[in-house]
Amino acid sequence: MYVAQQAREVESRIAQACLRSGRDRAEVKVIAVTKYVDEQVAREVLHAGYHRLGENRWPESAEKRERIGDAAEWHFIGQLQTRKVRGMVDKFAVVHSLDRWTLAEEIQRRAEAAGLRVKCLLQVNVSGEDSKSGVAPDEIIPLARKLRSCPAIELIGLMTMAPHEDDPEQTRPVFSGLRHCLATLNQAAIFDAPLTELSMGMSNDFEIAIEEGATYVRLGSVLVGKDK
Ligand SMILES: *Cc1c(COP(=O)(O)O)cnc(C)c1O
Repeated sequence: MYVAQQAREVESRIAQACLRSGRDRAEVKVIAVTKYVDEQVAREVLHAGYHRLGENRWPESAEKRERIGDAAEWHFIGQLQTRKVRGMVDKFAVVHSLDRWTLAEEIQRRAEAAGLRVKCLLQVNVSGEDSKSGVAPDEIIPLARKLRSCPAIELIGLMTMAPHEDDPEQTRPVFSGLRHCLATLNQAAIFDAPLTELSMGMSNDFEIAIEEGATYVRLGSVLVGKDK
């Protein structure tokens, strides 16, 4: 009940943000972040109509991931230790948190061994905060060039986290900054086709992110509460 109610409210806020920015609702994909909740609440999320689920820890999320299985499309959104890649590379459809070359090498190695191609987003530290992981904007193009030697990694876009602001409007430069990073990367024409995905916006700031071009928003507490 709770999740369904929250989902209705979230949908209306997404629709309004799309309207304000002249975007089509279909361009914005919701990742329901289930890291705070158990399998039962995650199933409520599916029932409310969201089939993309986000987790940020491995192997802590393994049991939930296995029990729900492929009823969901699983997105990995957390910091990833290189030594944990082996067990998770075939469990997630998209990794949003590729943030260093050594991690790319390991994903390449393990995905290739498993006969997979893994969709990844480069995590960018747009705000420059020390506490945020991700590559600096000027490291994107050099890293993207190196990724051409990783055929088992399909780079699909960029991801960022904005600092928490009491006034979400303050996050706008971070999101427009990531959009500019993607445009600059695409101008460099490193890949055959332009990258299309911008993973940005969380419970506190998703409407601003949508106005600035988010194609994935990652919503946890606003959908599921924090300790339900
Ligand atoms: C937890 C988390 C989210 C969701 O956070 P909420 O503020 O609860 O919506 C989104 N993205 C990442 C990377 C996270 O770790």
